[in-house]
Amino acid sequence: MAALLAWYEAMGVTDAVDESPIDWRARPDAPPPRASAWLADLSTGGDADAPARAPAAPVPQPPARPPAAAERPAQPAPAPAATGAVDQNALETARTLAEAAPDLTALEAALAAFDGCPLKRTAKSLCFARGAERADLMIIGEGPGREEDLSGKPFVGRAGQLLDQMLASIGLDDSQVHITNVIYWRPPGNRAPTELETLVCRPFLEKQIKLVAPKIILTLGGSAAKTLLETKTGIMRTRGKWSTRPLGGEDRAVMPTLHPAYLLRTPAAKHLAWRDLLAVDARLRGDDAA
Ligand code: URA
Repeated sequence: MAALLAWYEAMGVTDAVDESPIDWRARPDAPPPRASAWLADLSTGGDADAPARAPAAPVPQPPARPPAAAERPAQPAPAPAATGAVDQNALETARTLAEAAPDLTALEAALAAFDGCPLKRTAKSLCFARGAERADLMIIGEGPGREEDLSGKPFVGRAGQLLDQMLASIGLDDSQVHITNVIYWRPPGNRAPTELETLVCRPFLEKQIKLVAPKIILTLGGSAAKTLLETKTGIMRTRGKWSTRPLGGEDRAVMPTLHPAYLLRTPAAKHLAWRDLLAVDARLRGDDAA
């Protein structure tokens, strides 16, 4: 066995990218995705000093009952209970503003003028989107963190850097994807958004989806999956399974996966996200069986 592993290494086979072999010759159109950089870094926190070629981790099985930590991209203060009803005036204003916006620039301006989301009072910036204006793949996270609040762009901190590496491993970059969150302002202390906060931002998100017109929506983490799938089921149960949801005026394919911030804390779960990315990649290439 040691001799076989040494031979593999000498041949350049150093990273496990999936649990079962993939016959790349069966996909002559598709060069093998290059996941190794982020997938092989199994050190907690993605430490830059970690060996570039860490040995492949034993494949952990998803726990029967998902750990609550997987729901959260970070470990912030708990969200206040979503008690009370949504402010109907704010919701109505959100719908009217979103409906009237003919394009993404107008939608961002409408959001900037909207005072109905209480998060706006504590956040520094509106954090709307980055990436392509129209894209087959739209990525939706939970909400801006500290770096995003400072820069006004989603996923620019460490989680965003990992997200960029993950996308690069299936041959995608900002010019091909549109990236946003279910809420547009940073919740204080990075807590999870409440249901009421996501509800009042929802008309803008629906319009954003309509304008971007993605074939596929990839949600990151528990909050985004729960919001878009309208479920209370945790991410460890929803991830990796396709759903079709009416979003932005049309039925769209939704793939929930783990949040990159969770992957930074739990690198052993990266192989699950990689599997989800491969399914997205296959579907983007027109393989609907994926
Ligand atoms: N986490 C998110 O969910 N979204 C961001 O934009 C950044 C971190």
